[in-house]
Amino acid sequence: MRRLLVTGGSGFIGSNFVQYWLDRHPTDEVINLDLLTYAGNPANLANLSAEHLTRYRFVRGDIRNLELVEHILGEHKVDVVVNFAAESHNSRAVLDPEAFLRTNVLGTQAVLEACRRQGIGRFHHVSTCEVYGDLDLDSSESFREDTPYRPRTPYNSSKAAADHVVRSYFETFHVPITLSMCTNNYGPYQFPEKIIPLFTTNALQNIPLPLYRHSQNRREWIHVVDHCSGIERILEAGTVGETYHLGTGVEKSVEQIADGILDVLNLPRSLKTYVEDRPGHDRRYLLDSSKIRRELGWAPSVTFEAGLPETVRWYQDRPEWWQPLLSKADVKEGRWVNAPAATGR
Ligand code: NAD
Repeated sequence: MRRLLVTGGSGFIGSNFVQYWLDRHPTDEVINLDLLTYAGNPANLANLSAEHLTRYRFVRGDIRNLELVEHILGEHKVDVVVNFAAESHNSRAVLDPEAFLRTNVLGTQAVLEACRRQGIGRFHHVSTCEVYGDLDLDSSESFREDTPYRPRTPYNSSKAAADHVVRSYFETFHVPITLSMCTNNYGPYQFPEKIIPLFTTNALQNIPLPLYRHSQNRREWIHVVDHCSGIERILEAGTVGETYHLGTGVEKSVEQIADGILDVLNLPRSLKTYVEDRPGHDRRYLLDSSKIRRELGWAPSVTFEAGLPETVRWYQDRPEWWQPLLSKADVKEGRWVNAPAATGR
């Protein structure tokens, strides 16, 4: 039996991970530490079974609160920490960069320090492909685990800084860390500010889908359940101190995502509208995920052709989940007040 502390377990990926872990590890216990910011939603875990609830605890709190984190680790005799908690929305980071540095960098450092003091068996940090910057649309390259960092936005730079802090705690204090960088996730329980739930919920309300003007920019997509299985594989077989990429190789442009969603819902493409790019908007990310496939035998299991329609229908069937969140999604894409002009890349 292991005890996991999952930070940010009420957000999109964290809540999918809590559910995934309780389902597949029937003797393990999970403690979820989440501040419940606008992105944290108790409804994401409302479907935990009665049996799950006997092995699940929730603590509302801030990962920057070192005393609190240390207390939780000691009181619950935590074996493993998985650090999802973050400010995660690139567009919001353009408007309030400081919040990103506070939580993503100082918060991560506080959790690491608590792990160091309590001698925790593993600290796994959840990072992003975005720390590497972007690629040309016609580039034949992909990011490898040893690609130099080149973050271009406040969100990316906060995640990049956190990664450096994580590695420094391994080198300096021998905290047993692992890191994973993942590509763009989609699936259930994603806050409707991110592109797939934003486009889907707009389409369901007959509101135009706001595509950035550079709509050929593309992302590599992974279903959230494959992100969870990748972290599970690293916790079970990964080497301490190592970094692993979790990607699918499946790239889709903003235009293809919008068309795919409209097609699933049988709605006209005239619902697409074009807005100003976010300042510093990256053109393309692509991870080389051959290391984890080769060394740990991980592979994604959900194809985009199956995962996108299933996800769109999940939101279509659950207006009671996303409708209360719309008033909290306060970033209006394309209206970059208080932000510098877009670079035009
Ligand atoms: P999310 O915004 O949906 O959830 C973040 C959660 O963290 C929320 O529940 C929020 O309440 C909580 N939180 C925020 N600040 C906190 C604090 N100071 N203390 C405690 N809890 C706090 O984000 P997500 O999309 O689920 O992303 C989770 C992690 O995965 C992040 O670290 C993100 O950088 C990383 N990631 C996300 C993607 C993606 O496509 N969504 C891709 C790669 C990596």
